[in-house]
Parts: sequence; C-alpha cells; structure tokens
Amino acid sequence: MSDILKSLIDIVGEKGVSNAPEELWFYSRDPGVLAPHRPDFVVAPKTTEQVQKIVQLANREKIPVVPMGNGMSLAGLVIPLKGGIVMDMKRMNKILEVNPMARYAVVEGGTSQGALKAYLEEHHPRLRHSIPDSPSVTTIAANVSLHGQGRLTNQYGFNSDMVSGLEVVLPTGEICLIGSPSIGPYWISKGPTMPDLSGLFLGWLGCTGVITKVGLKLYPNKKIREAELFVTDRVDLIPEILYKLTDLELLEDINVWFQPKPFMFLGNYQITIFYTGSTEAEIDFKRKMIWDCLQEYMDSKDGGFMGTYYMKEALLQMPGRNVAAFADVPRGGGFEYSGPIAPIEHFPQYAAKVVELAAKYDVLYASTARLISGGHSMMYSISFAFNRNDPAMMDRVEKALDEATVFALEMGGIPWKPNFKEQKMLLEKMEPNARNLLLMIKKNLDPQGIMNPGNWEVNS
Ligand SMILES: Cc1cc2nc3c(=O)[nH]c(=O)nc-3n(C[C@H](O)[C@H](O)[C@H](O)COP(=O)(O)OP(=O)(O)OC[C@H]3O[C@@H](n4cnc5c(N)ncnc54)[C@H](O)[C@@H]3O)c2cc1C
Repeated sequence: MSDILKSLIDIVGEKGVSNAPEELWFYSRDPGVLAPHRPDFVVAPKTTEQVQKIVQLANREKIPVVPMGNGMSLAGLVIPLKGGIVMDMKRMNKILEVNPMARYAVVEGGTSQGALKAYLEEHHPRLRHSIPDSPSVTTIAANVSLHGQGRLTNQYGFNSDMVSGLEVVLPTGEICLIGSPSIGPYWISKGPTMPDLSGLFLGWLGCTGVITKVGLKLYPNKKIREAELFVTDRVDLIPEILYKLTDLELLEDINVWFQPKPFMFLGNYQITIFYTGSTEAEIDFKRKMIWDCLQEYMDSKDGGFMGTYYMKEALLQMPGRNVAAFADVPRGGGFEYSGPIAPIEHFPQYAAKVVELAAKYDVLYASTARLISGGHSMMYSISFAFNRNDPAMMDRVEKALDEATVFALEMGGIPWKPNFKEQKMLLEKMEPNARNLLLMIKKNLDPQGIMNPGNWEVNS
C-alpha cells in the first residue's frame, strides 16, 4: 500500500493525495441512507494526464477507482463499496470554452453547476444551461453520468441528452474523444451523424471510465422567468392536466408536488409551471395560454391558480432550495428519494404509493415529480426524510425506498440514479440479451473491473 501511496504522490503531488483516517472517514459516505465503506486513498487530479496515470496505475495493480464529483447523488454512488481510490474531480474545474453562436460550453470533469452558471451570467448573459435542483457545488460530469434532470428537461430532455461531446479516460488509460470533437474542433454533437458512443459513458455511473471534459449545449436565457402554481385535490385529473399543459409546447419546466406539511398542503397537488419570455407581451401571452388551457378545471371547481406573491422568489430560485426543506438538515436530518422514470398516466398510483409507504414505515414523505421531454415520461420522486441519529428510522426509510423500487419495476418504471441494490433489481428484470450486451461492453472497456465496482456489476 505504501508503494501505491508513493506512486499517487508522484502523479499528483503530496497535496493531492491522502490516506489520513479523517479524510477517509469523510470520503466513505454520502448524505443518503446507505452504509459507509472506507476507501484506501483519496486522490484529486488536476489534469487529464494525471487522471490517465492514476487509472493506468489502478488497472495495473487491480485497485478500484471511484470517480467522484461532489458525492451528493443521495444514492451512495460514490461510496467505495470495494475500497480502493476515490478520485475527487473537483480540482478539474476549468470552463474551457464557450461558443456563443453554436451555443455550447466545454468544461472540465469536476466543474460545478454553480461555476458554469456564474460564468455564463457574467460573460454570456444571453445563455444558460439546464440547472438541476441539487446544490450548486454538484458537478456537471457527474450529473450527465447519472442522466440528471434540470430546469430545461421538459423542453429538451435529460441533461445527458444535452451533452455535445465528451473526453473520457478509459479504464485501461486511453484518452478518448467522443462525438464531433473526435473529428474537428467543434463540440456540437455527442453522436449523430456517427454511431453514438456517448452511451458507453452516460448513465454508467463512472463504471466505464472517467469523464474529463464535457461539451454541454446552452440555451437562450430569456429576460423574464415566471411561475404559476395550479392546485387541485383531484389526483385522478393530474395526468390529463399535464397532457394539456405539454400540448401547449411552450413551458420551460413542470413540477408536480405534494406533501403533508405544512397542513395547508395536505391532500392537495401543486403543479408549478415555469415559463420564460423576452418581453412582457410574450409573458402575458403565455400566461393567458396556460390559464385558458386549465380554465375548465376552474369552471368545474376542481382546481385553481394560487397567488404566488410571497412564494415567487422561492419558486424561481435556481437551484430550487426548498426541495430539501422538509428534511431538517441543519439539525442532522436528511432525505433520500427513489426516482423512477415512468409514464405520466401512472401519477395517481405513484402518489398513492408514497402515502401508503410513509404510513407503513412511519416516516415523513414529500414528492416532487418532474416532466421529461414534453411529457414523454416523468420522474416521480418518492422522498422520505430521516434523522441520522435514529438508526431504526434510517432502517425504515431504506426499506420504504426498496419497496418503492419494487413497486416502480412492477409498474414498468425505470429506477433513476439507481443505488447498487436497485441496479441489481433492474438487471434481474432486464431482457437477457440486453443484459449480455451490457456485460460485453463492461468486460471490454474495463477488463479488470476496476471502475466503481459494486455498481453496474453485470453477470451473464
Ligand atoms: C436537494 C437535492 C436536490 C436534487 N435535485 C436534483 C435535480 O433536480 N436533478 C438531478 O439530476 N439531481 C438532483 N439531485 C441529485 C444529485 O445531487 C445530482 O444528480 C448531482 O448532479 C450529483 O452530482 P455530484 O457531483 O454530487 O455527483 P456524485 O455523487 O459525486 O457522482 C454521481 C455519479 O457520477 C459518477 N461520476 C462523478 N464524476 C464523474 C466523472 N468525472 N466521470 C465519470 N463518472 C463520474 C460517480 O462515480 C457516481 O456514480 C438532488 C440532490 C439533492 C441533495
């Protein structure tokens, strides 16, 4: 082990490596419910070449490597299940290029959402990227490697759909450009018109390589953003309301949320509708379209728009900080969510399941669902809060989340950012030839099985 430490120091310098117990304690856990596991080393590279050398060393010595952004997936995806090296990417945080006409940015593999947002606000105020509601310190590469979603997901799909090129270090150490940057200087396409190799890395949770650069599509940053809040107590109406809203083809983001606390929310389903415009006239027009489209529910007294005067600032925050408000984080609380991707018509069944599971396991719930690609699917967040000082409660939340995943799979849903247990359930349910294809890819890309082992462990 001391030889490995020495080799890592040779690669990144003394300040970039640690095996001190207090550091290993920190890097052994994430804020979710899964049990921690200690790594042997933490290393923080600064360049792609350093990443390459670390991976080559790990491959030669058969040591696990877990790429880490900010460790906030809540699904334990950077817990080093088999020890080895946690590779903290945060020192690779440069914004390398913004092409304002072609609307893309190229960032290093540890760049945070907040850094890109701030950079664009200062240097390219007419451009924006799809910001998730995760804390600003979370990283762009990690988010696309788990198929994250953000403010523009209703319009343009998963954040990983917005990737416009990648640089990756393969588990065997080769540095590889994916998409248009493999042909010329422009980061305009991750795949088309060639076979799309980005699928070998996106959604793989760091199990097939380390992303060292991400090309990300940018979108117009309109001068005005607005939010409407529609409320109904008729859960059965939610799918058709969402269908009508997406039929308008003009909304930035649509979230449906419900929670039992504070009391005024109990039994109601809130739909937050985000839209943007360059002028007040455009905003007025869009607002009218939204109100007209939901007029029939106001006429039938099944729903109505809620005044948002005091809430507007909180609603329009990016990232939305109220997502975690139901978990008492400052006093040691936390939350974790299972987030199956499923058709919008299943909303009532998922909503009933959240409430049923919360009652069965005696835990507090909150649920925020997000529409994807104009309603082709939806992410149902089934969130439960916990108090870390109460092991029995942690156990109940873990069981409730496991049961939520079983339910989602029975309903034909796909667990999103699945933890290692959910990955196993997914692989067991998967059609065998599809599973074999995954196995072929994993074996060929990572013959020693060093990349984030314990995750996407495919067996024939
Ligand atoms: C309050 C809250 C709200 C949230 N809201 C959202 C939301 O709206 N949308 C959303 O998508 N998520 C959300 N999340 C979940 C999560 O925080 C985000 O998905 C976030 O992008 C994870 O980033 P990270 O840097 O913390 O990832 P990490 O946990 O560090 O990593 C996640 C995965 O990516 C892999 N990885 C990391 N870096 C690399 C790399 N360079 N190359 C290859 N693989 C890599 C890791 O090995 C791991 O498998 C939320 C979380 C919280 C706590």
